[in-house]
Amino acid sequence: MQETGTGQEAFPAAGGGDVDVLVIGGGQAGLAAGYYLNRLRRDEASGRSGPAPSFAILHANREPGGAWQDYWASLELFSPAAYSSLPGYQMPAWTGQGNPAAGHVTEYLSRYEARYDLRVYRSVRATAVHAAADGEYITDTTRGRWTSRAVISATGTWNTPYLPQLPGAELFEGRQLHTADYRGADPFAGLNVVVVGGGNSGAQIAADLAPAASVTWVTRKPPRYLPDDVDGRELFRIATRHVRALAAGEPSPGTAASLGDIVAVPPVREARDAGLLQARPMFSRFLPNGVEWENGEQSAADVILWCTGFRPGLAHLQPLSLRTRNGAPATEPPPATRSADSRGLFFLGYGDWCGPASATLIGVGAAARETVAAAASAAAAHPVGSPRP
Ligand code: FAD
Repeated sequence: MQETGTGQEAFPAAGGGDVDVLVIGGGQAGLAAGYYLNRLRRDEASGRSGPAPSFAILHANREPGGAWQDYWASLELFSPAAYSSLPGYQMPAWTGQGNPAAGHVTEYLSRYEARYDLRVYRSVRATAVHAAADGEYITDTTRGRWTSRAVISATGTWNTPYLPQLPGAELFEGRQLHTADYRGADPFAGLNVVVVGGGNSGAQIAADLAPAASVTWVTRKPPRYLPDDVDGRELFRIATRHVRALAAGEPSPGTAASLGDIVAVPPVREARDAGLLQARPMFSRFLPNGVEWENGEQSAADVILWCTGFRPGLAHLQPLSLRTRNGAPATEPPPATRSADSRGLFFLGYGDWCGPASATLIGVGAAARETVAAAASAAAAHPVGSPRP
């Protein structure tokens, strides 16, 4: 049977409202949460379970697809389509070469949203989430105010790029950009570009740029490629095995980090094998028109492209004064996504700290299922319309 939305009731008007569970962010993580929230409604409709929580998904973007909309067109997934799916609906086969391109994911997420008739309010940004005295949440947005009994924050990391603060950076007269600014090699044709970062983005962008620009790739440690046959499927399997072992009180059988940092997707493998990905250690200082290396040698640079990662985009949660642990909000499992400071608040999709491989298409489903179950329980303590304690 094709699973689609319930179509039971009208979509509330876009100027705010009152729901049991408010999902903030409509990328892959928010949609996976929507899938399980919708499933609870179908279970209720078919008499398989009791009352399901009402919900809404707020999405700052005008279009579906989350961060995938902004990735560079030549970006290729770590895994084949069959291993890059959200719950319920498999990603359609990719007929191009290699693994699916970013645009295929955007198209898939758009279809996913329509297939399950998810309640996504587009162009609505949550600006501040407050905790009310009675255990409710009040969320201010760019289009009205929402109240809810639980909040699932699924706002991703793409909008909060991390750039290290290095002394002397202001001396550099060229452009400093980040992965989040990269849309393809064309604007860099013929330029001297220093790509900084030894992770997947650094390797993939250095490989993408190499035919067009003069690229110097800089990494803190020598690059560590995962074995060529390790892709997203295997990474997910390793992450799951690790988390299950820890949950069972057993020693970890190891994480993917022990194998390497860079997935050798075909374009990276080709550039590496062609000798185009020769990394060198970090430069020691900026010059107005380039950089200087430890040995005193100087290189011209028009652009420094920082592929130095992202941080969770959590500005909307500032009013809750959440504690942090290892750079992320403190969580208190189960489930792994539950805030330690605010019991009806959950974090979905940001990274391994809120579920194994939960920042990936294949991994976010498991975290979403547990999160929705816990959010529904939290909401059930304060059903809509009932007297509140
Ligand atoms: P996002 O996709 O960022 O979606 C969050 C959405 O929330 C955004 O659209 C944003 O507009 C919205 N939002 C933000 N703040 C607010 C707010 N205050 N109110 C309302 N809405 C808000 N994963 C894989 O599975 N396979 C891969 O091959 C792969 N390759 C990757 C390559 C790169 C270069 C990168 C950066 C990531 C890759 N990933 C891959 C990881 C994965 O795609 C991303 O982590 C994914 O986009 C995360 O989804 P998300 O829903 O958590 O966040």
